[in-house]
Amino acid sequence: MRRISALLLLLPLFSFIPWHAFGQQQDDFALLRNRMVREQILARGIKDQRVLDVMRKVPRHLFVPQNVRTYAYNDYPLPIGYGQTISQPYIVAFMTEALHLKPNDRVLEIGTGSGYQAAVLAELGGEVYTIEIIEPLGKRARRTLDRLGYRNVQVKIGDGYKGWPEKAPFDAIMVTCAPEKVPEPLVDQLREGGRMIIPVGRAGAVQKLVSIVKKKGKLETKEVMYVRFVPMLRGD
Ligand code: SAH
Repeated sequence: MRRISALLLLLPLFSFIPWHAFGQQQDDFALLRNRMVREQILARGIKDQRVLDVMRKVPRHLFVPQNVRTYAYNDYPLPIGYGQTISQPYIVAFMTEALHLKPNDRVLEIGTGSGYQAAVLAELGGEVYTIEIIEPLGKRARRTLDRLGYRNVQVKIGDGYKGWPEKAPFDAIMVTCAPEKVPEPLVDQLREGGRMIIPVGRAGAVQKLVSIVKKKGKLETKEVMYVRFVPMLRGD
């Protein structure tokens, strides 16, 4: 009896907790996300409706560290720890559009980072395989992806230069760190007719984003824009 009345006394306290604020905050982020798509992505010429929808849907703020969360939808890359960055939203949309993903595609990503790009790919493709060389980043990305229910993403810790031969061939490959040259193992693991988007160039210098299609065993290569990515590190 005494315990019940104590609880009753506590009840008014609950009304002081701003429960609505939790939902409110999610709505605010959704608004920011819509604005991001309108002002940064649509405005710069991304037209693929599926890519635009996914950019409006995936909660980018939940992939970045708490201290930069309020900047998650701004027009620049953000630090995610260990000297690494999550790409600017427009670059994510541009590279995603370049892969022309279909719902059953097997996709390989090199450079998991926060896991955000992997989530975007997972919304559009079938199965996503992503490789991260910095273990704590890969583990954190795994946790975020699990929490958000992305069951069609597999994360591996290792050197992405070598690709993931056991899971090859891939319909599409996206590289989000810059090697000096296109890694031969990745070319080998690309299916006939498959596409790759990859920044190529020296660390610290301006690099070229290269779009590749494999046709009859040959590569059709196009340089599509200048970019600046973190370098591709090499493991054992
Ligand atoms: N796609 C990420 C951003 C990647 S930043 C996102 O959406 O957040 C580039 C990432 O590539 C970094 O996390 C870096 O640690 C990783 N990286 C660098 N060299 C690598 C390699 N050889 N293999 C796998 N990952 C690598």
